[in-house]
Formats: sequence, structure tokens, C-alpha cells
Amino acid sequence: MRIVLVGPPGAGKGTQAAYLAKILTIPHISTGDLFRANISQGTELGKTAKSYMDAGNLVPDEVTIAMARDRMAQPDAEKGFLLDGFPRNVSQAVALDEALKADGVKLDAVLDLEVPEDEVVKRIAGRRICRNDSAHVFHVTYSPPEQDGVCDVCGGELYQRNDDSEDTVRTRLEVYHTQTEPIIDHYRGQGLVVTISALGKVTDVTDRAMEALGSDRAASA
Ligand code: ADP
Repeated sequence: MRIVLVGPPGAGKGTQAAYLAKILTIPHISTGDLFRANISQGTELGKTAKSYMDAGNLVPDEVTIAMARDRMAQPDAEKGFLLDGFPRNVSQAVALDEALKADGVKLDAVLDLEVPEDEVVKRIAGRRICRNDSAHVFHVTYSPPEQDGVCDVCGGELYQRNDDSEDTVRTRLEVYHTQTEPIIDHYRGQGLVVTISALGKVTDVTDRAMEALGSDRAASA
């Protein structure tokens, strides 16, 4: 399956993508994670991306599209993938359409995760992420780790993303509304959009997502 995940920052895209990718046995491709990996490795691409990310803005298309295409061309993505954070504006969506067309393949669905704005701000302000694996996500109030600052899953160090500060979150939300939301209409025109609520327990959202994708394999399977 070829799936695009959309939703505001804090909707739980990364968390859901990790579960869905496992159930569907397709790679989870997150442009945010790819940028963060480049930043921690100190690459040129990472240096370019960092200032944009820290300010809550989008990294320029030129850099992003090349990086995403490169990742999608890896052998593990041949039979499908779950895109998380890409495309993030209409020109990236058009570039993706063209790349898929050139490969003679199509998207199966665009899964739109819906969550109210005040919930998003609460989720992000308290979010803590494991340095070893961005799918290990905690929240200081909603899902605190047993030991402060330590990942329950693997013992890794928990940290707050640079761009999770309240000011930057507001910019990211603004960027989401003005630049990313229009891709939903773009894909609606192709009949691909399925919208689900991203509220409630993580496994419930995963089950809702699987149902919306037309698969009966449950999150616990
Ligand atoms: P979130 O969905 O919580 O905002 P991500 O990890 O997906 O977080 O993205 C973090 C940041 O990485 C974005 O705010 C942006 O600066 C950059 N980024 C990620 N994907 C893209 C993209 N497709 N185009 C441009 N910038 C991107």
C-alpha cells in the first residue's frame, strides 16, 4: 500500500505511522525524522534544514523533494510506504504525483488525522521524545515515563524537540493551515482522502485508521 498521512503537528502522525507501518509491513518514511537524523549527523543537508525547522517553517522544496524521492527509491519502499510529513504543500504533492506516475504506481489513500487545535498545543508542549527512536513518545502529564527523562521502552534519554516550544508551535500550526491543509483538497480531487478522529487511546486511533484504510487487521494483531 502507498499511503500519505496528514494532520497538524501533534496529531500523533509519528506514533500512528510506526504502528501502521508495522501492521501493513511497509516502511515508515518521515521527512521530519530524516531531517533530524541529518542534523544529529552534522550533514550539509542537516545544517540547511535546522534553521528552518527551529523557526517552525518548512525546509525549502528543492532539498525536501530530493531527500524524499531518494528515500522512496530504496528497495524496501518498492511495494509500498507510509509517508509521514511529506508532502507538506501543494508543490510537493504535485512532485510526488509526478514521481509516482513516472514509476507507474498510485497512492492508495491519504489518511487525514483530525484533532482540535487546543488539544494540539497541550500535546506538543508536554511532549518528550526518545533520542534512540522517535516512535517512543511520552507526555509529561498524559503518558509520563516511569522515571523522569528516561524512555520506558529502551532506557534512552528523553528530550524536548527544539521546535516544540509554544511560540514555534503556533508558527507550525499557521504553516499547517496555510500550506499543508490545501493538499487535502488536492487529494480530495483524486478521491483519496479518508478522515478520522485522532482523539482517544493510541490503539483505538490505530484501529480506526485500519478500518478507514479498508483493512480488518486490528492494532493488537
Ligand atoms: P510535526 O508533524 O510534529 O510538525 P515533523 O517531524 O513532521 O513534525 O516535522 C518537523 C519539521 O521538519 C517541520 O516543522 C519542518 O520544518 C520540517 N519538515 C518536515 N517535513 C517537511 C516537508 N515535507 N517539507 C518541508 N519541511 C519539512
